[in-house]
Amino acid sequence: MSSVAEETAVAGDWTALDGSQQRVAVEVLRHGPLPRAELARRLGLSPGSLTRLTRPLVDSGLLVEGSSDVHLRTGRPSLPLDVQPSSRRFAGIKITGDALFAVVTDLRAVLLTEHRVPLPGRGPDAVIGAVADIVARLRNHHPDLAGLGVGIGGRVVGRRVVTRAPFLGWDETVPLSERLRAATALPTVVENDVRALTVAEHWFGAGRGLRSLVVVTVGAGVGCGIVVHDRLVEGAHSASGLVGHRQLSGSALCAEGHRGCAAGMLTSGAITGAVTQALGRPVSYDDVLELARAGQPAARRVVDDAGRALGMLVGDIANLVDPELVLLTGDGIGLADVARAPLDAALEESRDLAGPPARVDVRPFPFSEWARGAAAVAVQAHVLGPAVPA
Ligand SMILES: [Zn+2]
Repeated sequence: MSSVAEETAVAGDWTALDGSQQRVAVEVLRHGPLPRAELARRLGLSPGSLTRLTRPLVDSGLLVEGSSDVHLRTGRPSLPLDVQPSSRRFAGIKITGDALFAVVTDLRAVLLTEHRVPLPGRGPDAVIGAVADIVARLRNHHPDLAGLGVGIGGRVVGRRVVTRAPFLGWDETVPLSERLRAATALPTVVENDVRALTVAEHWFGAGRGLRSLVVVTVGAGVGCGIVVHDRLVEGAHSASGLVGHRQLSGSALCAEGHRGCAAGMLTSGAITGAVTQALGRPVSYDDVLELARAGQPAARRVVDDAGRALGMLVGDIANLVDPELVLLTGDGIGLADVARAPLDAALEESRDLAGPPARVDVRPFPFSEWARGAAAVAVQAHVLGPAVPA
C-alpha cells in the first residue's frame, strides 16, 4: 500500500479501501475483537491472504491488535484484531415536529454526548439552519466529526431525499442530505428514523451477529424495520415496513378514517386521546400507563386493548418474516410492560402453528436512541458509502 493510501486509511473514510480490505475492516467493526483464524474463516480467506490484507490496515492504525490472551492449538499467541472505536466520532440527529435531539457517538455508535434543542420552525430552511447550528455546537467539543446522520419520521429515498415527513408538514421533495452537507461541510446521510434504529440494533445492539431481525416501534407512530439475509430491507420504493395502518381489532378511528388500525389503537396519541375522553380530563401517556397499572378501569381497558393489538401486529410480522428476533421498542414501549399479558396472549393466538414461537424482546427506550440510530447510519456510510448497503 502506498503512503498516500495509508494516509487515506487513517484520515479518510473506508470507501477508499480495496473491496477485500473493506470487507475485513467492516467484519472487525461489526463483530470484533476477532482472532485472525476466526476472521479468516468468516470471510473464506486463507491465513496467508488474511495476513496480506490486514498488514497495511494494522500498519495504518485502522485495525489494532488486541491483548494476546487467546492461544491457538499451535501454542502461538493469536492477537485478536479490533478497531479503535474512539478513532472516529459521528453526529446523529433525530428531527421531530418540535425539537432536534443530537448525539455524538464513536465508531461503534456508543453515546458520548447528547443535546436537545427546540426547533424554531418546521419548514426545510428552519430545520436545516437548526441542524447546522447544533452541529456547530457539537464541534466545539468534537472538532473531528467524521460524518452526520439524520433520522426523520417519514419517507426517505436512497438516504438522500425526503419525499414525505408528516410531522414536519413536508409534502414536497427535499434533497436533505445534499443541503445539510452544504450547510455543515460534513458527509451526511438521511434515513427514516425506524430504519436508522434498526441499523443501530443490527450492527451494534441486540441484533449484533443476527442475520434476520425485526424492530417494531410504538410511540408517536407505529413503525417496522426489517433485516433479512443480513441486509436492511429498503423496498423497491423506500417504503418497506409500513405497518402503521394495519387493520387490527377494535373500533378506534385513526386520522385516515380506518377503524381499529394500528395508528388508531397503538400510538401514544391514540391511547392518551381515548383515556382523556373516557375520564373527561387531559392525561399524559405516562399518566395513562400509571393509571392502568393502578387498575383504573378505563385506562386498563385502553392499554389492554392496545397490548392485544400490538401482539396481533407482531404475530403477523413474525409469521411473514420469520426473524431470529423481534425487538419491541420506541418511545411508547412502556405499553408492552403494562400490557404484557394481553400482548403475549395475542402473539400466541396469531402465531401460525407451522412456525416456531417468535423470540420477542422488549427494550427500554431512552429518546436518545433515535439520534443514536442516525449516528449508526453515518457510521455505515463512513465504512461502506452513503447508499443503503446492498
Ligand atoms: Zn389508520
